[in-house]
Amino acid sequence: MTETPSIFSRIIAREIPADVVFENDRVIAFRDIAPKAPVHLLVVPKTEKYANVVELATGDAALLVEVVAVANQLAIDYSNGEFRLVFNTGESAGQTIFHVHAHMLGGQLAEGTLGD
Ligand code: 5GP
Repeated sequence: MTETPSIFSRIIAREIPADVVFENDRVIAFRDIAPKAPVHLLVVPKTEKYANVVELATGDAALLVEVVAVANQLAIDYSNGEFRLVFNTGESAGQTIFHVHAHMLGGQLAEGTLGD
């Protein structure tokens, strides 16, 4: 299901509250409302032009690089610098919000799983 504006655009516009931990011109990051790890942040390009990471990689590779760099810095700031970065891509893969976002999962993660 695609909502316009997306929930994330409404967070960016401050129409929906969120615990924002980072923001610049192109990227915002905030805590996931239903954390699956001790540190679970969503790193989100502000544009809702790209539904998933494949579209982002094709359409604006530099913005994808920025998302990775922000995730890395937040892992240093909020955890021990080590993290799992997950981009659910498609409904059957667990994607529910079709505005590209990275899940930055840090802290002690469950063994033997690939995240949520
Ligand atoms: P997806 O399933 O699309 O990969 O990830 C969407 C994520 O957004 C989920 O982990 C979900 O918990 C989170 N989420 C959904 N609605 C909200 C919200 O209103 N606020 C925040 N902070 N996270 C949300």
